[in-house]
Amino acid sequence: MELWYTEEHTPTVRFSIKIKEQILSRQSPFQRIDVFDSDEFGRFFTLDGLMMVTEKDEFIYHEMIAHMPMATNRNIKNVLVIGGGDGGTVRELARYRSIARIDLVDIDEMVVDVCREHLPFTSGSLSDPRVSLHFEDGLKFVRRFENVYDLIIVDSTDPFGPGEGLFTKEFYGNCHKALAEGGILVNQHESPYYESYAGAMLRAHKRIKEFFPVCRVYQAHIPTYPSGHWLFGFASKKYDPIDDLDERAWNALGLDTRYYNTDLHVGAFMLPNYVKRALQGA
Ligand code: SAM
Repeated sequence: MELWYTEEHTPTVRFSIKIKEQILSRQSPFQRIDVFDSDEFGRFFTLDGLMMVTEKDEFIYHEMIAHMPMATNRNIKNVLVIGGGDGGTVRELARYRSIARIDLVDIDEMVVDVCREHLPFTSGSLSDPRVSLHFEDGLKFVRRFENVYDLIIVDSTDPFGPGEGLFTKEFYGNCHKALAEGGILVNQHESPYYESYAGAMLRAHKRIKEFFPVCRVYQAHIPTYPSGHWLFGFASKKYDPIDDLDERAWNALGLDTRYYNTDLHVGAFMLPNYVKRALQGA
């Protein structure tokens, strides 16, 4: 008998991975959580049947979401991560000794529990003493702060279900308020390729642009996400990700990364024409 995980990337396109073993399937108050083992992608976990993290390609997403802002502003001390309960983004941030505090806000405590037990390769730094875990809706959490964070990373699920509120105008406005002078907002920005994802990406870009003077988009190749072509948003009150990149300072840190480097930092902002045109129209 063969067991396959299949995700519908569009109503007529499917992506499948052969499963060695299903490790767990649990329903939380917010979503269904599944963990699988596979030969090609190692261990991976899904929420409501959608791919979140695989052992083989998670480094691409987590390095690109964390090192881009950290290399742009070397004085980031207070960080808020919204979503990201698997701990991969926190793992990359925790490599910077210059960071004093990381607040991680995930709506679903069960995601953190499951990842602590079954995904040690991402969750290992959640016990770093600089990390505080908060289990509540990020939309509500961020409302209470003003001028506090140097960096907010939105490492969310897609804009339906519990993640929906993290793509709203209200949310981006509150992130702007919660950020200190020069603050940076990085968010997972969906894919430009398939229509349904591209629509969400454009709506998010349009909303973020209303609040931030610097609003850019960068890309990475993530094999297990729909189409493999994934975008991130980089918005800031002051810092430009290319003009303010201090390559020498970042390279002097000696961080060993598998995907991110300072050449790619610049290159990732060079977008294909169809994506540029779509963003210009937003
Ligand atoms: N890398 C992933 C991706 O793009 O597929 C994101 C992974 S991360 C596990 C997403 C997390 O966002 C989940 O743990 C989920 O519980 C959390 N989340 C969803 N909606 C949220 C909300 N409104 N507030 C805080 N966390 C939320």
